[in-house]
Amino acid sequence: MATDGHGRRIDYLRISVTDRCNLRCVYCMPSEGVPWKPHDALLSFEEIERFAAVAAGEGIGKIRLTGGEPLVRVGLIDHVRRLRELTGIESIAITTNGTLLPKFAHELVEAGLKRVNVSLDTLDPTVYSQITRGGKLKDALAGLEAAFESGMDPVKLNVVVVRRLEQDLLGFAKMTLERPIHVRFIEYMPVGGAEEGVACSSSEGEGWSEADEVPADEILARLTAEGAAAGYGELQPVAKPDAPGGWGPARYYRFPGAPGTLGVISPLSHHFCGECNRLRLTADGRLRTCLFSDDELDARAVLRTGTDADVRELIKQALAAKPESHNMRVGTIRRMSQIGG
Ligand code: SAM
Ligand code: SF4
Repeated sequence: MATDGHGRRIDYLRISVTDRCNLRCVYCMPSEGVPWKPHDALLSFEEIERFAAVAAGEGIGKIRLTGGEPLVRVGLIDHVRRLRELTGIESIAITTNGTLLPKFAHELVEAGLKRVNVSLDTLDPTVYSQITRGGKLKDALAGLEAAFESGMDPVKLNVVVVRRLEQDLLGFAKMTLERPIHVRFIEYMPVGGAEEGVACSSSEGEGWSEADEVPADEILARLTAEGAAAGYGELQPVAKPDAPGGWGPARYYRFPGAPGTLGVISPLSHHFCGECNRLRLTADGRLRTCLFSDDELDARAVLRTGTDADVRELIKQALAAKPESHNMRVGTIRRMSQIGG
């Protein structure tokens, strides 16, 4: 079992397999995209698998694949299959914008990946196209259907809440009344853009601002009031054992009789650093100890020149270096698409 320098159990590794994406969400990437790393700068699948094997030996049992958009990387299905076969890896999940799930969901399940988080911030096609800079809502919704049809479970939906977008939160709540979907509202975070001086900046110059933040308590208050007005009943907390199996910090609620749940993830308004259970490996092989900290260890160099014992030593160093809590500052050097969320 791996514990960090603050006694927290660390059993979860988020792996970004690419910094490329087929969308350009305004809070994640500038419209022109992020300069892509040359192929050689990225970890090969073989290098990722070697890292994961050593990490599994140190107590990592859960892996989430993310990006960029993980499904744009060629060969991902076989990568999943090989990760799944590693001793000690109990479960693999993916975070995706969903648009490529119609093509890959069945193969992913067959390769051993069932847990999926689809990112979808609005059910309005025009707003979706604005947020993603040209994406089509119908593609993401088709991906969601493919996730259910292929037997993925649990199916979760990530919704970043940004005040200026005036999202219809109740529209998402309605989905939980109809099917076993787990919608998680995520506070908008000022990640990326430090070098430009505008957190989450888009090239249009609009970045994160405190005014755009919608605290989780406000999200819950809105769902409670709007749900009651719509006749959905009283929003009730879901006890941990009944919550959809999760590895993260979401707090879950449900309307009476709903097969799905509503969750909130509140890195800003309620720190959950005390329960942090994860390390992050970026596509270019940096081991990141905290989403909000640009302190990174160079796993790529160790994977390319060192032994497994060296990799193990690096993981131990990362565990020891994990900060007790995030020193939330506005802007990090890497953007969300380069970290993996
Ligand atoms: N492309 C995949 C996707 O969109 O699900 C995986 C990578 S994306 C960077 C991972 C998650 O980070 C998504 O759910 C996305 O909505 C979220 N995200 C990106 N930028 C964010 C921000 N500034 N604040 C909060 N969440 C953010
Ligand atoms: Fe791409 Fe995901 Fe970032 Fe949107 S949030 S630009 S889909 S990586």
